[in-house]
Amino acid sequence: MPHGMFINVKVDPAVAKDAVHAKKLTDVCPVNIFAQEKDGTLRIVEENLDECTLCDLCIQAAPAGKVQVIKLYE
Ligand code: SF4
Repeated sequence: MPHGMFINVKVDPAVAKDAVHAKKLTDVCPVNIFAQEKDGTLRIVEENLDECTLCDLCIQAAPAGKVQVIKLYE
């Protein structure tokens, strides 16, 4: 990832609340940016966000438009 770039991941609240989608996202991300709470809902692991490889697997794993990987620059 180029220096000075960081990532934010946005998940539609309805998807984040759904345990099936949450599991899919947790399984698919190679750098563990997604985790599941005990109740099955999705948690974004903030401390792993800078590991994002922009692989788009999370975008493909979710219904269209429900996960966004946003590139931010300093
Ligand atoms: S783009 Fe890839 S590395 Fe980044 S959050 Fe999605 S699945 Fe994880």
